[in-house]
Amino acid sequence: MEPHRIVIVGGGAGGLELATRLGNKFGKRGRAHVTLVDARLTHLWKPLLHEVAAGTFDSHENDVDYIALAHQHHFDYRLGRMGGLDRTRREVSLAPTLDEQGREIVPRRVVPYDMLVLAVGSISNDFGIPGVAEHGVFLDNRAQADTFQRAVMRHYLHVQTHLPQPSASGLQVVIVGAGATGVELAAEMHNMARQLVVYGFNRIVPERDLKLVILEAAERILPALPDRLSQAAQDRLHDLGVEVHTGRRVTQVTAEGVHTHDGRFFPAAFVVWAAGIKAPEFLRDIAGLETNRLNQLVLRPTLQSTRDDDVFALGDCGACPQPGKDRPVPPTAQAAHQQAAMLARSVACRLGGRPLPAFTYHDRGSLISLSHYTTIGSLMGNLLGDVMIEGRFARLTYRMLYRLHQRALYGTLPMLLLMFSDFLQRRTRPRMKLH
Ligand SMILES: Cc1cc2nc3c(=O)[nH]c(=O)nc-3n(C[C@H](O)[C@H](O)[C@H](O)COP(=O)(O)OP(=O)(O)OC[C@H]3O[C@@H](n4cnc5c(N)ncnc54)[C@H](O)[C@@H]3O)c2cc1C
Repeated sequence: MEPHRIVIVGGGAGGLELATRLGNKFGKRGRAHVTLVDARLTHLWKPLLHEVAAGTFDSHENDVDYIALAHQHHFDYRLGRMGGLDRTRREVSLAPTLDEQGREIVPRRVVPYDMLVLAVGSISNDFGIPGVAEHGVFLDNRAQADTFQRAVMRHYLHVQTHLPQPSASGLQVVIVGAGATGVELAAEMHNMARQLVVYGFNRIVPERDLKLVILEAAERILPALPDRLSQAAQDRLHDLGVEVHTGRRVTQVTAEGVHTHDGRFFPAAFVVWAAGIKAPEFLRDIAGLETNRLNQLVLRPTLQSTRDDDVFALGDCGACPQPGKDRPVPPTAQAAHQQAAMLARSVACRLGGRPLPAFTYHDRGSLISLSHYTTIGSLMGNLLGDVMIEGRFARLTYRMLYRLHQRALYGTLPMLLLMFSDFLQRRTRPRMKLH
């Protein structure tokens, strides 16, 4: 009998963990043929992107090569961007991959499946607000985060070498959206300016040359998190001199700055858009499947799409119901990680002809890293309930989610070795990217 063909599209926080688990469990023994499709050749864990954008994390040192990982974990990898789906023929179609000059590297092709898992993540949602798409900076992928980091670095190099021009030296950054990404980015950028001074950029005066503004439509920052966590983060941002404006709805973004609903204008050299997400456009009503207003595939608790038993989704691109709640499972790496673990069990059930398990999201809490200044958060446990933490322990716990991701990809011992190697490298490498 032909092995079951499982195709996973999207090798991110959830999809890559699933491909690795399935390859080790079923691909190795020939019980299933596992294929991972991704539009890029390498993977970087998305929750690190704000650190990449601020230069406090070097993305190139932490790339995961899909080709190598596929070889190690017994799955196939196909480079390509999914553009369409034929549910009758059970085929995913991939657009041709082009190089920087527009020449074709990989042709258009189709990938047949028996079971399809969509794990293509999300992109920033501009909510149709004029000017956001043209002038906003997005942190949806590594290339965007790298471009932003280089632009900010160029600005500081200019300031360092073109004095005296105190009036022209200011860098005003407006961050729209005070969710975790916006809040964490503000702290990282604050840290970036101070690190540059340490590295000899002696003409930069962070208090004078960097102005960070956060605009949030809700009445408080971190609206999805508990009140006291939001208050604690607001206090720390205040201490750092970050200007926070809540209850302000952005109505337009221009090359000069941001207009809000109450007639205020915030000048900005960069407007970072971190105000919400949606699933990629190509998913909207794809092949007659049910999608919601955020283009997410509407799912059953088994993570199957509502209209096709063979099409599953996980992570940000799926809307999985939560019993007793009116909101689906939140779009976080934590949820994608848990869903990947459950889908690996679902495949065993599917191959064994048993009913599929239902997904239950376990909220382990939320942690907000304010760069190296502090980390604050709440942990949710069965025994302790909701516990507020801060400082070094919180920082360690924050990093654990990334370590869990590495463990899912490489195993426990290699993950520990990577931790040790990172520790050693911290002694020899600069604390931030200086190019
Ligand atoms: C700056 C930032 C900070 C965050 N911090 C946290 C945090 O601290 N904790 C937390 O839990 N969550 C955090 N998140 C959210 C978290 O990153 C996402 O929820 C998580 O990455 C979703 O995982 P995923 O597998 O659904 O998608 P992703 O990890 O986004 O992966 C999607 C993959 O699909 C590929 N892809 C996309 N379109 C196509 C296509 N058409 N064809 C082929 N491949 C495609 C992409 O290349 C990518 O590899 C953060 C997000 C951001 C942006």
